[in-house]
Amino acid sequence: MIISMKRHASKEQIQQVCDRIGDFGYKIHAIEGEERVVIGVVGVGDVTACLESVEAMPQVETAVRISAPYKFVSKEFRPGKSVITVNGCEIGGDEFIVMAGPCSVESETQIMAAAEGVAASGAKLLRGGAFKPRTSPYDFQGLETEGLKLLAKAKKATGLGIITEVMSDRDVELVAEYADVLQIGARNMQNFALLKSLGKVTRPILLKRGMSSTIKELLMSAEYIVAHGNPNVILCERGIRTYETYTRNTCDIVAIPALNELTHLPVILDPSHATGKRSLIPALSRAGVAIGADGLIIEVHPQPEKAVSDGAQSLDLNQFQKLMTELKPYIQLWQQSRVTEAAAAV
Ligand code: PEP
Ligand code: MN
Repeated sequence: MIISMKRHASKEQIQQVCDRIGDFGYKIHAIEGEERVVIGVVGVGDVTACLESVEAMPQVETAVRISAPYKFVSKEFRPGKSVITVNGCEIGGDEFIVMAGPCSVESETQIMAAAEGVAASGAKLLRGGAFKPRTSPYDFQGLETEGLKLLAKAKKATGLGIITEVMSDRDVELVAEYADVLQIGARNMQNFALLKSLGKVTRPILLKRGMSSTIKELLMSAEYIVAHGNPNVILCERGIRTYETYTRNTCDIVAIPALNELTHLPVILDPSHATGKRSLIPALSRAGVAIGADGLIIEVHPQPEKAVSDGAQSLDLNQFQKLMTELKPYIQLWQQSRVTEAAAAV
């Protein structure tokens, strides 16, 4: 159950509601939003009796029963789509958003060339890892703070918003100083200490699906972030591990409409990590647009053959430009269907 208090509810009125919920044996989880307090109710008890009792209390705006274990991110909580504003663009709204850039920030020359190239082709956010989760401890681990500073330079030069990964709760504040969106990589999707610390930042979060995680587990991880105070979460399908080895991961493409059924959070697709092969990126990108993703995140490098990480799945700047041109008619259809869906929802 989720209870939304009216805007001007006093502390005492909120406490009275919490006490009443407690009488029914439930636990509460209150989130203080900018405008109002929302109370999540968890546990086992007589839902109908609790709901009816609370609904009648002063300053309670709505009380909604939510059967999904993920409460705040569920479609039951909010039937429409959440729109998340990042550096002037809206994710989950009427614009299809493409984020692009190298796997890792490597040097000023590299990130500037990447930023200028992807901006010219229509990307809205620049991606690039400064803290890199690498399988081998001997591989390039990222430029860390120096990498963040280079991303800030690239933002200044191009106006692109920045998305970059944070791997540890210790670095959340530092990364949030430079990034417009904090990326949580597949390997950290269930790093619960990290997820909790993200509740305290105002920056939106891109939460990537763990490589062996179910859709429900992805939503539970998103719930951690929202329940700890940050409602701005974008989900990302980036492929899961199966017995198939031709592709780096197996893209669970149907996860996108499935997530759109289950949650109001925006959902994007990462065709680069899903395939591991640059030749497959255009086809999978088209599929992502057609199946209702809100955007794409694509690895692009000015010289993929020299990339320190993920070169084989990185497009060069010309290939990215060609892809963006090829996607245009698909995105036009996507926009038409968004308008139709919005009209049907009214
Ligand atoms: C990345 O975006 O470079 C990355 C490491 O992705 P993932 O966490 O999906 O493997
Ligand atoms: Mn990568």
